[in-house]
Amino acid sequence: MSFRPHSLHDVIGVAPQLRVGAAGVDRRQFLQTSAGVMLGAALAQLTSPLAAGEGMGDLHLATFRVDVSPPIGHSCCGGWIKPVVDYDDPQEAIGLILLGAGKPVVICVVDWTGLLNSAHLAWRTTLAEAVGTTPDRVAVQCVHQHNAPFACLDAQRIVQAQGDLPDIVTPDFFNRCLERIHKAAADAVQKARLVTHVGTGQAKVVGVASNRRIIGPDGKVLHWRSSSTKNPLHHELPEGLIDPWLKTVAFYSGEEKLACCHYYATHPMSYYGDGRVSSDFVGLARKRRQKETPGCMQLYFTGCSGNVAAGKYNDGSKEARVRLTGRIYDAIAASESSLRREAVKTLAWKTVEVLPPPNESLDAEALEKQIGNRQNRVVNRNRPSYMLAYLQRYERKQPIILSALHVGPATMLHLPAESFIEYQLKAQKLAPERFVATAAYGDGGPWYIPTEDAYPQGGYEVTMAFCASKIDGILSEGMRPIVAT
Ligand SMILES: [Zn+2]
Repeated sequence: MSFRPHSLHDVIGVAPQLRVGAAGVDRRQFLQTSAGVMLGAALAQLTSPLAAGEGMGDLHLATFRVDVSPPIGHSCCGGWIKPVVDYDDPQEAIGLILLGAGKPVVICVVDWTGLLNSAHLAWRTTLAEAVGTTPDRVAVQCVHQHNAPFACLDAQRIVQAQGDLPDIVTPDFFNRCLERIHKAAADAVQKARLVTHVGTGQAKVVGVASNRRIIGPDGKVLHWRSSSTKNPLHHELPEGLIDPWLKTVAFYSGEEKLACCHYYATHPMSYYGDGRVSSDFVGLARKRRQKETPGCMQLYFTGCSGNVAAGKYNDGSKEARVRLTGRIYDAIAASESSLRREAVKTLAWKTVEVLPPPNESLDAEALEKQIGNRQNRVVNRNRPSYMLAYLQRYERKQPIILSALHVGPATMLHLPAESFIEYQLKAQKLAPERFVATAAYGDGGPWYIPTEDAYPQGGYEVTMAFCASKIDGILSEGMRPIVAT
């Protein structure tokens, strides 16, 4: 199949805020902001006791992996850094399909910078069609490497209309990826395996994550520590707020491990901007582990890392990439050896739709002028195209979906865009008795998602936050009913 824009409108429908796609929904909850904007609207809950009817033979798992490396010449990170010139290692889309508990559930993770707005919906719709489910039962998360596509079809249409700007994502390549994931997911279903147990484990990562924002005595950002830095002060300053744990959720068939999902919160870049496609240090660690476990699919999810990167421990050298890869690999291996298995008795998939309003500073007319001004650098024309794309998305009321899979003791939470670390720490507090593993970088539409407190502190992330500060309340309230059980 190929990507057909009209099919998206069928999915979005006329009242997307009321859409509850899953059959067997037994509860709806409607939430509204004080401003009267529908924030969220539909909470779909489907709890499937696996023992009902056919007993524990019900739950099956299928996995797929597809190469989604961009072709030579393709834009990286939105078109304002060097395009693809060569390959260090492939970028992959890796997915899990759970069958036998209501309609199938798909969780997919992609080695791209981001999938935003219509592009994110296109991936979810394609995977849903491939396995016979609805798009609200598909989570697609990015790892967020930067020598990679930053795919927004809406921003692409805007820059394409200019005629002189580099592509954001080349539609042909994008459609080929959709065809590949459709085929891979449909084929995988034929080889699904029985799932009997789920395992949870964790290990501390040493010397990788650090907070990017060092706040001064006046309450403003004093130092901004990027993904890599040669500034000795940035190496000396404390780590700041991070989540040191790498968490693993594993699926078993009897004694045999079928898939491991690993979660850790850091921007995944050691260095970039040289046009060489790579899955970078977190992907390289995943691949090293994959080689050792050919029968077990390895997935790595980037947690809430909007304000977290490797800067304290990374000078951007090739040696640093090797070192960081080793540290993530060590944590993956340690986390896997700590796995505790439990028989799976229930599974629940919960979703909530939110539609956070845009940042008041964004003005469509001013953005259009900026994009149209040929004197501006590419970054100052392509980047505003993403901003305009979010404004348009808000106008057409295309919601962002938050979802959580509850399986055995584990809750696998899916959040959008560049959420700050505080959100995943908050999610863990919502369900202290459960093993909560959070993947961010789902729908990338809003770019950075700071906390409300972070807005007055300023700094890069706040200037690149496309939503108003009330997104904090919307996201925090939206998570509550899908995480707390
Ligand atoms: Zn980022």
